Amino acid sequence: MAAIKTIGILTSGGDAPGMNAAIRAVTRTAIYNKFSVKGIKRGYYGLVYNEIEDFTSRSVSNIIQQGGTILKTARCKEFATPEGRKTAYDNMRAAGIDALVVIGGDGSLTGARIFAEEYDIPIVGLPGTIDNDLGGTDSTIGYDTALNTIVDAVDKIRDTATSHERLFFVEVMGHMAGDLALNGALASGAEAAIIPEMETQIDQLADLVNRGFRKSKNSAIVLVAENPSTGGAMGLAERIKKEFPQYDARVTILGHLQRGGSPTAADRILASRMGAAAITALGDGQRNVMIGVKNGELVYVPFSKATCHAHRVDYADIDLVKILSI
Ligand code: ATP
Repeated sequence: MAAIKTIGILTSGGDAPGMNAAIRAVTRTAIYNKFSVKGIKRGYYGLVYNEIEDFTSRSVSNIIQQGGTILKTARCKEFATPEGRKTAYDNMRAAGIDALVVIGGDGSLTGARIFAEEYDIPIVGLPGTIDNDLGGTDSTIGYDTALNTIVDAVDKIRDTATSHERLFFVEVMGHMAGDLALNGALASGAEAAIIPEMETQIDQLADLVNRGFRKSKNSAIVLVAENPSTGGAMGLAERIKKEFPQYDARVTILGHLQRGGSPTAADRILASRMGAAAITALGDGQRNVMIGVKNGELVYVPFSKATCHAHRVDYADIDLVKILSI
């Protein structure tokens, strides 16, 4: 294997708070260890369309506190084709890039795995997504910030829910993973979380109603993970109208505000540690792994495991939400 001299870095897929802290950590750790760094704009789009620039330690000044990503991000259809990846590879080599650090979610790391296998390129991934839906890691960069944003929003919705004595469905993101809804419910004292992981096991809406959630309470907030197959919070409100018309349900979809904002200290620290670990990994000859965190320790997770949808919610917490909301 040829020695790595120049490392390219990109952010891809949905932006997540803490991506900038990760870019900073990757760039500065690489430069500290005598590697050159190139910033690739707009994810894989920048590789395909040759938007690549030299990075210095000053390129990442004053960004640790900023949400979003200074490298911009994009979804790039061309990279999902062999022709697109060939162009990306040619551009990467022409720019002198020997290895990549890819910061992104499930799709971005799937693209990284395919690219690495096709062209034998050392690639290390960082889990950059608010969804916390990757395998082999307890947390992803951006998840903690999004969770805090959700809790802040639910606290505000609680005021109006209580005043009007209403049932509120609050839809959160998650890309078919229930972590944001479940832990958001635990942290905000919501009455229930309705998550895709439980969908085939019970009728969660009927369970909520059958629990008699309105008997001793004059308001209820239910966190609902986005789920195209059930229509998410809107779908549940429709069902309430038809099946349980005695309840007056309202819907709030938090949407993209969950993606923004200054990263929490926890996300900045996670991104800094993971960013530095990506460079250590490349220097040690690791390739085609994502940096994960398990029980506080950084670990290497093969891309195949990170993207195989192995991440599971803690089912005990589903009962805990119910117990704590009696
Ligand atoms: P988030 O979890 O925030 O949505 P993501 O990384 O999962 O982020 P995607 O839109 O799924 O976001 O993927 C980002 C990009 O990764 C795609 O636009 C595409 O360029 C690349 N990609 C995804 N899947 C593949 C694939 N199977 N082959 C090659 N490239 C892919």
